[in-house]
Amino acid sequence: MSKAKYVYLFGNKEAEGNAKMKNLLGGKGANLAEMNLIGVPVPPGFTITTEICTLYNEKGRDYAINLIKDDVVKAVAHVENIMGMKFGDKENPLLVSVRSGARASMPGMMDTVLNLGLNDLAVEGIAAKSGNPRFAWDSYRRFVQMYGDVVLGMKPESKESEDPFEIIIDDIKKKRGVKLDTELTADDMKELVKEFKAAVKKQTGKDFPDDPWEQLWGAIMAVFDSWMNERAILYRKLNKIPDEWGTAVNVQAMVFGNMGEDSATGVAFTRDAATGENIFNGEYLINAQGEDVVAGIRTPQQITLEGSRRWAKLANISEEERKEKYPSLEEAMPEVYKELYEVQDKLEKHYRDMQDMEFTIQDRKLWLLQTRNGKRTGAAMVKIAMDMLKEGLIDKDEAIMRVEPNKLDELLHPVFDKDAVAKAKVVAKGLPASPGAAAGQVVFHADDAEKWAAEGKKVVLVRIETSPEDLKGMNSAEGILTARGGMTSHAAVVARGMGKCCVSGAGSIKVDYKARTLEMGGHKYKEGDYISLNGSTGEVYDGLIKTVDPELSGYFGQLMKLADKKARLYVRTNADTPHDAQVARDFGAKGIGLCRTEHMFFGGDKIIAMREMILAEDEKGRRKALEKLLPMQRTDFEGIFEAMQGLPVTVRLLDPPLHEFVPHDEKGQKEMAKVMGVSVSTIKAKVEELSEFNPMLGHRGCRLGNTYPEITEMQTRAIIEAAMNLRDKKIDARPEIMIPLTGTLAEMKMQENIVRETAEKVFEERGKRIDYLVGTMIEVPRAALTADQIAQSAEFFSFGTNDLTQMTFGYSRDDAGKFLPIYIEKGILKNDPFQVLDQEGVGQLVEMAVKKGRKTRKKIKLGICGEHGGEPSSIEFCHRVGLDYVSCSPYRVPIARLAAAQANIMNKRSWKKKNK
Ligand code: ADP
Ligand code: MG
Ligand code: MG
Repeated sequence: MSKAKYVYLFGNKEAEGNAKMKNLLGGKGANLAEMNLIGVPVPPGFTITTEICTLYNEKGRDYAINLIKDDVVKAVAHVENIMGMKFGDKENPLLVSVRSGARASMPGMMDTVLNLGLNDLAVEGIAAKSGNPRFAWDSYRRFVQMYGDVVLGMKPESKESEDPFEIIIDDIKKKRGVKLDTELTADDMKELVKEFKAAVKKQTGKDFPDDPWEQLWGAIMAVFDSWMNERAILYRKLNKIPDEWGTAVNVQAMVFGNMGEDSATGVAFTRDAATGENIFNGEYLINAQGEDVVAGIRTPQQITLEGSRRWAKLANISEEERKEKYPSLEEAMPEVYKELYEVQDKLEKHYRDMQDMEFTIQDRKLWLLQTRNGKRTGAAMVKIAMDMLKEGLIDKDEAIMRVEPNKLDELLHPVFDKDAVAKAKVVAKGLPASPGAAAGQVVFHADDAEKWAAEGKKVVLVRIETSPEDLKGMNSAEGILTARGGMTSHAAVVARGMGKCCVSGAGSIKVDYKARTLEMGGHKYKEGDYISLNGSTGEVYDGLIKTVDPELSGYFGQLMKLADKKARLYVRTNADTPHDAQVARDFGAKGIGLCRTEHMFFGGDKIIAMREMILAEDEKGRRKALEKLLPMQRTDFEGIFEAMQGLPVTVRLLDPPLHEFVPHDEKGQKEMAKVMGVSVSTIKAKVEELSEFNPMLGHRGCRLGNTYPEITEMQTRAIIEAAMNLRDKKIDARPEIMIPLTGTLAEMKMQENIVRETAEKVFEERGKRIDYLVGTMIEVPRAALTADQIAQSAEFFSFGTNDLTQMTFGYSRDDAGKFLPIYIEKGILKNDPFQVLDQEGVGQLVEMAVKKGRKTRKKIKLGICGEHGGEPSSIEFCHRVGLDYVSCSPYRVPIARLAAAQANIMNKRSWKKKNK
């Protein structure tokens, strides 16, 4: 049996690995190998596979070392050969770096050790050979510091200031009266090494290891350990990277950017990661090593002359000063610049994507140390994909696949001015519930928000939590901040629907409605004080941070057009107002998949009439109140149908428990008593009577329409009359009437009969007919199970996956905040099932209902209107099970259009793979 291969060599333009082997070699290792293969200069080395990381974590250090011991010894010899140097030699010592590198890039999350192989003898050898003792001792002190921090645990995790080595460096700088590391002499470095080692001895009780092999094994194991450090674990959680992947370890010959004025180190991008502009750019530092460029100790210089001039202008630096102190690489080392320019061009063409590279220049010789597909903003993502399509680097399918759908969100909302936010003071942090930027004056009540906004003020609505009554106020506000509630809280869902910035569940803030104050970050804010919210990060800032409107460039439109051509699913929107409908239409919605009628009953006279209806003694009283509601509803529907003319509009009949509409406060109850001419105690009693133990499983949905048919009658009449009124004005209205919460055929049939009888009455009255559909939500598990029967009556199904998830899991949506986060933390659930459709369980019900529904009614129209309709992985599922459309909130329409196209492309690709 041949032994598994755990160590892969590279160097001298040869390599045992390649770019496709990311799972095994990590991204860094795979790309180092690939760069060798295509002739890019890379220092030789080897990669220990991610499998060893997993084995190390499972079976321990000795087991892992045993598996690779011989191979590592051979691999070091391979590097020695190419470099003509010897590991641990005192005259010509080989130094190496030991670098982490996982499958997905986790920049800066894990550890790296540079200059390994140095000791008191080797440093003299390097000093003699290079004729540069300062460089030798600088490298040595860097090594002792890094090794001490990473391997020997000298640095307390995440607290920069307490690094004992930094304290020693600061001391010596003070003693010498200098500011920069570069101003320290060879003797200073020597002194540092001595003090560093003493510090190690003092803190760990052991001598610093002098044996290069001991150093090497220590560093390899420490890099494996760094896979499990706190920040790496957190990063993986945020980016949904599985713990099982593990990191690879890359051991590589050192090249030195700190050898003097002809040496340098830097990072470069083939295009602009913020804007996507096709310009080579980056930063570098002369006489520096490793992370010096990003560490921010010295001011890094620009690589290109153009970039350098741009930078100087922003930094207010004169051309003379720039040239003298901060020359570009293009000016300082023109030949090396030219070579770097060619390499970046080669790499981008080879990988056919924007590259983010790390390089080092030793004595004017260029070495590449890393390349990867660069991270970028949403705007850059779109532009780069469309540009590369035009340049012929990628095809249409690939251009579509290159854009992460969720990233489009960034393009649609106002954004903070970058410079302003960098200087902002963070006073609280909550959940990034709805992306975007908001800045304005604090108000605490929804009606104040409305009033202030009407006066032209920009306000941020701050609430402990929000309720449906706050809707209008939320709409008037720039953004919403709540102390309680999660990502599916009312505030969060509604804000996302409105495309409004929202930070929810900021637990540390203290809201006092009475005093109208808000305490956060050690400061008490009064009504009218200014704050700013970042809905993309969950940060709350003090004061007014400048925002800028997003620019929806032509690239965005081009991408959307392309996506529509590639998608099979089409996209509708969930919208309750003409304004939302218009927004969604502008974003490319092909109709309304869910128009909730209950939101129409809040505000002004409507809520009074609604309450009259609910609080009425009997059917007669209800009918009287419904008479008042009819014209108001009709007008509302006319508005929506008009905004969506020519496209279908699915109107859902009244769904929530009536208790949600009645007044719970003294003032409201008195008002209703007066309106209805009864005593306050009568109203109070009625309100109490309506309260339920489990309202979400109570008297709601079609149970309302079947017990109070007059409600369904009124709503049907309003819908049909509105549509006919518009038709009379030559406006093409296409209503689809949707029955909520159906569980049995009989329930559905009864509602269908009421709808059809009412519609017939209207047609008779007007002597005309129009087309309309009657269908149902599938949101009760029983409806999915008996979908074949229900399809006898329903002309369409719309999967209400919010309720379907709630009822399939038995998780109350309103109470899940207490345990869902813990379930996800503990790994009991991978995702919040209210955000990402549970394909395994809830998905089975959807799939079953699709099949059963089509069996009974071949042409049944199928869609989804839950929150999942705007979530890319759920959309992919909807595509696979054969739905006709997804419906989502207006601001998610572009995301859904792109995700629908990607679903089609991915499915075609995997079909091709299977049938090859
Ligand atoms: P990260 O994944 O955090 O970027 P790296 O392994 O890329 O960590 O190492 C960080 C930096 O260390 C690199 O950008 C490079 O400047 C320097 N470095 C790593 N290996 C070498 C090497 N063999 N020679 C010179 N510098 C190196
Ligand atoms: Mg790196
Ligand atoms: Mg529902």
